[in-house]
Amino acid sequence: MKLLVVEDEVALAEALSEILKRNKYAVDTVYDGEDGLDYALTGIYDCIILDVMLPKRDGFEVVQELRRQKMSTPVLLLTARSDTEDKIHGLDCGADDYLTKPFVSGELLARVRSLTRRRGEVVTDAFTFGDISLNKSTFSLSRGNDVVKLSLKEYQILEMLMVNPRQLIPKERFIEKIWGYESDVEYNNVEVYISFLRKKLTAVGSTVTIKTARGIGYFLEEKK
Ligand code: CA
Repeated sequence: MKLLVVEDEVALAEALSEILKRNKYAVDTVYDGEDGLDYALTGIYDCIILDVMLPKRDGFEVVQELRRQKMSTPVLLLTARSDTEDKIHGLDCGADDYLTKPFVSGELLARVRSLTRRRGEVVTDAFTFGDISLNKSTFSLSRGNDVVKLSLKEYQILEMLMVNPRQLIPKERFIEKIWGYESDVEYNNVEVYISFLRKKLTAVGSTVTIKTARGIGYFLEEKK
């Protein structure tokens, strides 16, 4: 899951990013409404945490513009004010939820979880494909009783593959989602993690394999 934090108070932005990263989200942070809008419009985020009072463009304008451009990414607005009118205005602009500062991290995480839950998704702790299951809370991969732990990057890559099984995912997409645009990660880093994941799939004796579309990307396949 990749999140965008738009917050001009640097200390708060960093604290938010820290909490979210500790909870295994990939996070990009920007500090004004203009950058917020540009980043959000890339469409690579699963949820946007958007402060209301921002330089250049405020949070209301940003969410309004996103909705005008048909971007349906869930938006959680943050504000220092608890006025009901502000809340109504935010929701009218197209925000999905609202959190008043100061808030505790548990509340933030609960809102983000609820906003990123896909429609129609069965609310469980695991993704499944073929004979494997990927546990979202323990970051483990299992087949029957065989279980291996995954590193954060391994987990994020396998999650992307399992959310869209059989769909070819370009290498660039993994980099955008997991490392972010500004990282200078080489493509072969993705290859390294893919090779770790293949070893772990073999270790649990799965019939699921990660196939390579040479020069393009990867997809999951179940060996018959
Ligand atoms: Ca602010």
